[in-house]
Amino acid sequence: MRPSLLDPLFAPVTTLPGVGPKTAKALDKLLGDETRGARVVDLLFHLPVGGIDRRPSPTIIDAPIGGIATFSARVTEHRPPPPGKGKAPYRILVEDETGDVTLVFFHADVRHLLQTLPIGAYRIVSGKLELWEGMRQMVHPDRLLDPAQAATLPTIEPVYGLTEGVGPRVMARIAAAAAEKCPALPEWQDPAFLARSGFLPFLESVQALHHPADLKAVEGDTIARRRVAYDELLASQVALALVRRQQKKSAGRATAGDGRLRHAIASALPFTLTDGQRQALADIHADMEKPERMLRLLQGDVGSGKTVVALMAMAAAAEAGRQSVLMAPTEILARQHAERLAPLAQKAGLKLALLTGREKGPGRARVLGGLATGEIDIAVGTHALFQEGVAFRDLALAIVDEQHRFGVHQRLLLGSKGEAVDILVMTATPIPRTLSLTWFGDMDISILAEKPAGRQPIVTKAISSERHDEVVGAVGRAVDKGAQVYWVCPLVQESDTLDVAAAQERYDALREVFGDRVGLLHGQMPGRDKDAAMAAFVEGKTRILVSTTVIEVGVDVPNASVMVIEHAERFGLAQLHQLRGRIGRGSAASTCLLLYKGPLGPVAEARLTIMRETEDGFRIAEEDLRLRGEGEVLGTKQSGSPDWRVARPETDGDLLAAARDDARLLIERDPQLDSERGRAIRTLLYLFERDVAIRLLRAG
Ligand code: ADP
Ligand code: MG
Repeated sequence: MRPSLLDPLFAPVTTLPGVGPKTAKALDKLLGDETRGARVVDLLFHLPVGGIDRRPSPTIIDAPIGGIATFSARVTEHRPPPPGKGKAPYRILVEDETGDVTLVFFHADVRHLLQTLPIGAYRIVSGKLELWEGMRQMVHPDRLLDPAQAATLPTIEPVYGLTEGVGPRVMARIAAAAAEKCPALPEWQDPAFLARSGFLPFLESVQALHHPADLKAVEGDTIARRRVAYDELLASQVALALVRRQQKKSAGRATAGDGRLRHAIASALPFTLTDGQRQALADIHADMEKPERMLRLLQGDVGSGKTVVALMAMAAAAEAGRQSVLMAPTEILARQHAERLAPLAQKAGLKLALLTGREKGPGRARVLGGLATGEIDIAVGTHALFQEGVAFRDLALAIVDEQHRFGVHQRLLLGSKGEAVDILVMTATPIPRTLSLTWFGDMDISILAEKPAGRQPIVTKAISSERHDEVVGAVGRAVDKGAQVYWVCPLVQESDTLDVAAAQERYDALREVFGDRVGLLHGQMPGRDKDAAMAAFVEGKTRILVSTTVIEVGVDVPNASVMVIEHAERFGLAQLHQLRGRIGRGSAASTCLLLYKGPLGPVAEARLTIMRETEDGFRIAEEDLRLRGEGEVLGTKQSGSPDWRVARPETDGDLLAAARDDARLLIERDPQLDSERGRAIRTLLYLFERDVAIRLLRAG
């Protein structure tokens, strides 16, 4: 149970002074989700995105023109609009011994002005100071205070992300109120670490974040944010460490083969394995042979040859008389894997079956039967593999391809189809080290660093879409020389239907030129048509495949050596890299033409430049992280992975590494979290809502 100490923070925002149902509703939109409304804790971590400098100038003449100025002055004159010109603004003159400023009010509430700015009164005035026909003026001052209230004006006013219905002043007030509600919490950080880092207690740190002392505190970075970021990272790393410990403990089973089937497959391959593939397989087999559950990430850039590693691992399971599944994120990819792997599996005497949402009726029943009796050794499919009604005789190994399309939830589900199933996750997204620690901190990692020998570099060019006709000409020449071409159509405003229309239109136009050598593939085609389009391209019947981004993941046609990407400026770097990875797989030199429509913004220009400069997925991922943000690199924004509230993976990498070590050590020493620090850590887990991990602890 959540410690009651945290109750004020997990109460609805309506418990804050001045937050009624209307404001609460607006805040729900900004900070709530489908399952709950906004809570005080959400406001606590809703940190300022900037600040307004309201430090007072000593006199009017010193006050900066063109920016926010704050000064004190005496009200000397009211100038109502001339009679008959009711729409003209109401003006009030204020001055000190160095000069004067005209305060300008449109649609003025005159009675209110007479009350708040009586002639002769001294006021602190703050707002945007401008020159108008040589005179200083301020239209609608932000603040007008009695000097007696001077202390209520913060020198640096925090600026928050807003939502409709909650203005800047209200947001600042209620965020401060949320910080005020925060109780003092037991210290969960190691005292020596705190002292070394110069970190203050959590409470002081969050309050400092909402009451910035200087502009640097909101525009740059502060020790206070770093402290809270470390708290957040520690919470996530402790949670991961607990899950990992649990998974290792729930006794796995040793799966040891004799190498017989692997040998048969290796001799059927038209190539020899790379050193990286060999090493990855050694890692995987070592894991499988241990009586612990494997949880391993196989990371290899597009084209690095992960599929054959998967097959060998599945063969090892079959040698031990056990079953495996290979799960792909799309129908197309599942089919392709099955088609690719079936002949190899067959040579080794393995029975492989395909199971997707499209297998129906007797065919499906046969597969389900074969899985239940153990007659089928390897099942390749989509998430349909893990639906109810699919049972295995003895599932040893689950492999997930292109992991970034799957959520954490599926990952847990995966293991539930058998007793202590070993899990291998394969991803083509090269994940920068800082990120792999946060996202896969609970996994062991094998990396395929080099590509299979004999690959030629891809020449990448950025070409203005005005030169479309030249591109069509070049594609024609390439096709005449025997090449196959992917022609990728743009994302149109993130809309599937419009994408399809664009692809259809391009297909029609290219057919006018190249006839039936052109094929079309998009996400809205019926499954059979997709298969047929893909098959025709694989067999070389079609030479140009016009498609939407459905080919992004995994598709492998070695003879395809040209790729045209329309409106390349609309794609993210990771996506461009994934797309381009579809070519350069055979022995022919490959070309990627990035068609763009100018003028390019700076980010789009940077992306295209990086694409031209490098094929190194790691460098591309790092650059992507710099240009965009974490979620988009991993493609997780849509799939609902936890976002960081305070931590910034791009700048807090050092903290992350420290948090990981700290968490591992902590769990080693105090696996039940019942030392004094352990109990404080429980509070931390609840505070950052990583508390599912607490359920894994011994009850009580
Ligand atoms: P990815 O890692 O992107 O999934 P694939 O497994 O699809 O890559 O492999 C890409 C291509 O490289 C395939 O055509 C595959 O047959 C080939 N390949 C894999 N391993 C090797 C190797 N050791 N030597 C040569 N070609 C290989
Ligand atoms: Mg692949």
